[in-house]
Amino acid sequence: MAAMAAALRGPGRRFRWRTQALAGGVRGAARGVAAGQQDYDLLVIGGGSGGLACAKEAAQLGRKVAVVDYVEPSPQGTKWGLGGTCVNVGCIPKKLMHQAALLGGMIQDAHHYGWEVAQPIRHDWRKMAEAVQNHVKSLNWGHRVQLQDRKVKYFNIKASFINKHTVCGIAKSGKETLLSADHIVIATGGRPRYPTHIEGALEYGITSDDIFWLKESPGKTLVVGASYVALECAGFLTGIGLDTTVMMRSIPLRGFDQQMSSLVMEHMESHGTQFLRGCIPTCIKKLPDGQLQVTWEDRTSGKKDTGIFDTVLWAIGRIPETRNLNLKEVGVNINPENQKIIVDAQDITSVPHIYAIGDVAEGRPELTPTAIMAGKLLAQRLFGQSSDLMDYNNVPTTVFTPLEYGCVGLSEEEAVAHHGQEHIEMVCLREPPQLVLGLHFLGPNAGEVTQGFALGIKCGASYAQVMRTVGIHPTCSEEVVKLRISKRSGLDPTVTGC
Ligand SMILES: Cc1cc2nc3c(=O)[nH]c(=O)nc-3n(C[C@H](O)[C@H](O)[C@H](O)COP(=O)(O)OP(=O)(O)OC[C@H]3O[C@@H](n4cnc5c(N)ncnc54)[C@H](O)[C@@H]3O)c2cc1C
Repeated sequence: MAAMAAALRGPGRRFRWRTQALAGGVRGAARGVAAGQQDYDLLVIGGGSGGLACAKEAAQLGRKVAVVDYVEPSPQGTKWGLGGTCVNVGCIPKKLMHQAALLGGMIQDAHHYGWEVAQPIRHDWRKMAEAVQNHVKSLNWGHRVQLQDRKVKYFNIKASFINKHTVCGIAKSGKETLLSADHIVIATGGRPRYPTHIEGALEYGITSDDIFWLKESPGKTLVVGASYVALECAGFLTGIGLDTTVMMRSIPLRGFDQQMSSLVMEHMESHGTQFLRGCIPTCIKKLPDGQLQVTWEDRTSGKKDTGIFDTVLWAIGRIPETRNLNLKEVGVNINPENQKIIVDAQDITSVPHIYAIGDVAEGRPELTPTAIMAGKLLAQRLFGQSSDLMDYNNVPTTVFTPLEYGCVGLSEEEAVAHHGQEHIEMVCLREPPQLVLGLHFLGPNAGEVTQGFALGIKCGASYAQVMRTVGIHPTCSEEVVKLRISKRSGLDPTVTGC
């Protein structure tokens, strides 16, 4: 596991709280708060990337802070500990399983480099899953210790508002706890969406909330969706040797550069992932032997078809966790179309002392580093001497498909939409100083490469400056600084594009 983990290294008004079993329910609870005894400066709902960062920063600034976090088990019964999506059912287990798949490829290649590797090589899901799950549990523990060290009070309760300064939290045992605060930060993230209109979808399907916690191999898997979560999961499942099919309704990696997205998909296809394009599932039935029969429709021909799988994984998007917070009652506005909380540049909701950060907030990238930075900056604005706002421009990210895709800035489609085709060459402004608007890298270690270039883009790098940067040879990253704008943008996109 150590080797697996190494792969990742990579004065406000006071308020009152009290905690006790409340016989009188929420009404009784509300009355109780009025007679409360203790104060917190900040209450954070959600102990994930953003919430923990905000709570720890506020505590470091000398404030009295509480965090509430509660994981509602997935429809399949999967549950996990403190740390939120990234730690438990997102970035961390995903990257470890991606690494497991990459290692398989390296073992295959190893004999060309003189290593004698017994063939055929086999992958053991149980071993990998146990190691990944143990690593995640160690991170859960680490988060609890960090909170304790900083004197942040942690409550394992599911919170909802009862008034503008008070939340009521319910523990697994049913015990109710009241917490009230001067400032309240909502950082409740999101959960995978289920297509509940499809027969058998909820009963038999799993999501990214389950895949990393399966004790047994998922076997032959149908991944439904073409989001980055869908392609990443399909990529590592294929990479560890499982028969994997992706069923997609329309385009891959919506929101990302489409030229690069097609290359990601082509690479996956040439390495064994099967794709059912333009198809939508209509029904899932469980067969007597436990396998799943999936019926789908080809949207172009209207024809129906069926296939048999061991596992169906839905990766069709995420729903923000706002439904159970009783937001309407306290006047926190959400966007009715996507249920996300509407915030201003300072992360303030429609209620001045209630804030929202991370995946639950409208218009924010759904990424861990942005949630963490937003959380820290919010705490510094509230309790420090800072007025710094989070800058969401030029946020880099990477899709950990078998051939990784890293990007920062605009996609070509966005560059054209913002600036007009006539002003764009590659993803740079055509006129001097030829500002680089977006950089896209497809290749090994794309996250590491993109992280470095992201600083340049953030500093306003021009095309000429990128071209004057000396490459490191022999590397894949040097290809970025060797690209030349041709008369017809005839770059070789198989490695990089900027
Ligand atoms: C499969 C997958 C892979 C990903 N990979 C990456 C990646 O490689 N890089 C990257 O940057 N991002 C990645 N992400 C996205 C990243 O995980 C999220 O953007 C990030 O975790 C959001 O942090 P957050 O603080 O907004 O919410 P979360 O981390 O989701 O935390 C919210 C917490 O609040 C709790 N909660 C919810 N409601 C309540 C309530 N009423 N009371 C108490 N607690 C509550 C939740 O249980 C959860 O613990 C991935 C996501 C997924 C699903």
